[in-house]
Amino acid sequence: MIIGVTGTNLAGKSTVVELLLARGFSSISLSDILRAIARERGLPVDRATLQRLGNEFRERGGPGALMQEALRRIPSKTSSYVIDSVRTPGEVNALHAANEALLIGVDADPAVRFARAKAREASTGRDENALSFDEFVAREALENTDNPHGQQLRTTLGMADLIIINNGTQSELRARLERLFAFMPSTDARKLEWGEYFISIAKLVSKRGSCIKRQVGAVIVKERHLLSAGYNGTPRGAPNCDVGGCARCNDHSIPSGTRLEECTCVHAEVNAIAQAARNGVSIRDADIYVTNFPCLSCAKLLANVPIKRVFYSDRYAHTDDAVLSLFRTVGVETEFQPSRW
Ligand SMILES: [Zn+2]
Ligand SMILES: [Zn+2]
Repeated sequence: MIIGVTGTNLAGKSTVVELLLARGFSSISLSDILRAIARERGLPVDRATLQRLGNEFRERGGPGALMQEALRRIPSKTSSYVIDSVRTPGEVNALHAANEALLIGVDADPAVRFARAKAREASTGRDENALSFDEFVAREALENTDNPHGQQLRTTLGMADLIIINNGTQSELRARLERLFAFMPSTDARKLEWGEYFISIAKLVSKRGSCIKRQVGAVIVKERHLLSAGYNGTPRGAPNCDVGGCARCNDHSIPSGTRLEECTCVHAEVNAIAQAARNGVSIRDADIYVTNFPCLSCAKLLANVPIKRVFYSDRYAHTDDAVLSLFRTVGVETEFQPSRW
């Protein structure tokens, strides 16, 4: 996955990059590519020089040249990279042409950003340019040229797949980004281990579950072969739980994990066992991968198959300790199997 970051000065771009790095991304900055060129040529590494080199780079290689150069530096298609300092529509087009790439834009009101500039000057003791607000705004206008080879920050921002308006504090921005990034797939490109592979399949299977209380998935595996799969929901032929099929699940006063004897939803483990039975597949001494630790009813059934080992990625309910002790007594092994997803 590749995420480009664009935005106005002091809007919060570097916080976006920082949080992505913390999630395992690597970074490439388009400005750093230009900085390296400036150093090679013995030029001063300042804003005006970088702008001029950027324009030159685009005149020579086309509007997307700088982005294409950055994309070339990404070693593998499975790597997760954040590309900083996207400043032109041509760069966005080049980014969007890449696989699994999106652009995040960050913006804030000019007055807010000006205040941040002043606060930074105060804290670093460097009165960088001693700009007035009008000068600050005028300088930014230079980044919004009509020159097709020049920077067009506003137009670029408008092409972002997602724009974050960050007029608040740094910690508010961090909290918002954490919520957003929680939905992102894992950035870990390592090949899945067998356990991760099967628990990932169980997670995907769970997404077919119709129970409104919880979606659970289970896969039964023997000698690295997937024998059967199940998700939870009302029995075949009955209306689904999510359209009112199960009275217990639809009574919101009943706490999760309680009064299960009134629930008409069939658990994922039971459905996986039923699927094996229907197809005449022996699951004797097989392993089961479940997204949630089994309930007591399922545990009894698993013990009698018998299932050899139960791999789970999440706890289930207040019955977990009782189930664990039952499993110990009857010799069913249990193991936490973390999922990368
Ligand atoms: Zn239900
Ligand atoms: Zn169960």
